[in-house]
Amino acid sequence: AGDAPEAETTDGFHLVIDALKLNDIDTIFALPGIPITDLTRMAQAQGMRVISFRHEQHAGNAAAAAGFLTQKPGICLTVSAPGFLNGLTALANATTNCFPMILISGSSEREIVDLQQGDYEEMDQLAIAKPLCKAAFRVLHAQDIGVGIARAIRAAVSGRPGGVYLDLPAKLFSQTMDALAGKQSLIKVVDPAPRQIPAQDSIQRALELLKGAKRPLILLGKGAAYAQADADIRALVETSGIPYLPMSMAKGLLPDTHAQSASAARSYVLQEADVVLLVGARLNWLLSHGKGKTWGAEKGPKQFIQIDIAPTEVDSNVAIAAPVIGDIGSCVSALLAGMGSNWAKPPAEWTGAIAERKEKNLAKMAQQLAARPSPMNFHSALSVIRDQIKARPDAMFVNEGANTLDFARSIVDMYEPRKRLDVGTWGIMGIGMGFAVAAAVVTGKPVIAVEGDSAFGFSGMEVETICRYNLPVCIVVFNNNGIYRGTDVNPSGTADVAPTVFVKAARYDKMMEAFGGVGVHATTAEELQKGLAEAVASGRPTLINAVIDETAGTESGRITSLNPAMAKKKA
Ligand code: ADP
Ligand code: MG
Repeated sequence: AGDAPEAETTDGFHLVIDALKLNDIDTIFALPGIPITDLTRMAQAQGMRVISFRHEQHAGNAAAAAGFLTQKPGICLTVSAPGFLNGLTALANATTNCFPMILISGSSEREIVDLQQGDYEEMDQLAIAKPLCKAAFRVLHAQDIGVGIARAIRAAVSGRPGGVYLDLPAKLFSQTMDALAGKQSLIKVVDPAPRQIPAQDSIQRALELLKGAKRPLILLGKGAAYAQADADIRALVETSGIPYLPMSMAKGLLPDTHAQSASAARSYVLQEADVVLLVGARLNWLLSHGKGKTWGAEKGPKQFIQIDIAPTEVDSNVAIAAPVIGDIGSCVSALLAGMGSNWAKPPAEWTGAIAERKEKNLAKMAQQLAARPSPMNFHSALSVIRDQIKARPDAMFVNEGANTLDFARSIVDMYEPRKRLDVGTWGIMGIGMGFAVAAAVVTGKPVIAVEGDSAFGFSGMEVETICRYNLPVCIVVFNNNGIYRGTDVNPSGTADVAPTVFVKAARYDKMMEAFGGVGVHATTAEELQKGLAEAVASGRPTLINAVIDETAGTESGRITSLNPAMAKKKA
């Protein structure tokens, strides 16, 4: 009875999953709820990895980091309206960082939304997403799901990578169609991120400029890390003999201990260089817009060569003498081919002057790192992290905060490409746990997340997620009792604490214990070292509450100059 063969049908749920799987997407970072709960269940049942978060922003940040690490769009799945808006922050951040991700959100019924008749979680999500990402699409019919996903993938990873929004109204999921026709409607995207070969004359122009340089410098950005052209980038640096500076997420493309690294002489080389080759780095605020005192303005203009996939990036801040437009892999290998094997190394006067400054600065830092003050300061705590990363250079390193970020960037050496994930182009707070989860899920390696106590607060609830999936994540909270530091006082005489101060002597380690992970309370460098080494060795979710001198931080870390000045001085 009831066994008569039905015509095989499929539905929107299955078509979405089939389309993703067809394109080798195996992981979804999600937060279930109406109307996508069943989608998360079915995706898992169909063999996809579904990592479920406590807040959509962190699921979105995880998708973004996965995109950066894999060159495949990271997928974030959310409910409508507020869930969508939470995910949108991460989508906008991914787009700003040039990380490929797709935010898929369920949405309410078009008919009701468009007439503004007040639906459950009513919101015109497509319109809201559009200005904040690279591309946005909506699929209304099951037979168009294949096209929708194909377009989203292409938009995310081709050219300059970025975030894509895909709007899937609730009704779409239960639409049915013939299974075979459904299968045939799906698209396996061929060559989603096509190489873009630079013009030969742009390569010649760049080489001419480099050849004439007396004080050349190479600047590697996170675009260079994303490109996965590691061997050629290293060959470019070594064949040319040119000193290089890595931007924070380009650290490790060459080991930070490399003889040609100019990191320890950063201000000197930025001021003195005469020709600068930018490889996947933008001249935005992180590089003082390529001008002013940082760049030695008074010493005369510099000449820039810029390798980038986005032609419109060129001249965005200063004139670029030699744009090289194409994908980094193709551009760097063309430059290498043009250099040949007997490229003249830069003058010894230049490399010698850099080496001298490096030596001095490194010796000074070694001294600061060796001190063992009580309580710990940023240097003594970070010296422990630095040693641990040196011992496990394959570990992933996640980093956010103000002082915690600034100090770690210069103190913690990286040895391998794409091991460092941090606050990126916006310099935001809140990426920590999302990035840490993605780092663990994508690489399977130990993850060390060094977090300011303020930064950690934005995504702290995800320690439950880390415990739930038993991820090898060790969070180290640099606890100095507040934002920047814990010493501000409320001058008004009311009972409230100052807006930058948290509960003093808080025990973040107890949060981890609440979910079955390991909590460590570290008041000395030795305790921190022991806890960290055990966490990395065991792979157990761990949170180390590292007590830092509450007077140690400075306002906004190294970007205090971005605080607007008060016209009227404090009373
Ligand atoms: P950083 O912050 O490290 O300086 P940015 O995010 O400012 O790096 O710059 C990255 C640049 O790299 C962007 O301008 C982007 O267009 C470019 N980019 C990203 N991926 C590639 C690629 N595969 N080939 C060429 N350029 C790329
Ligand atoms: Mg703090």
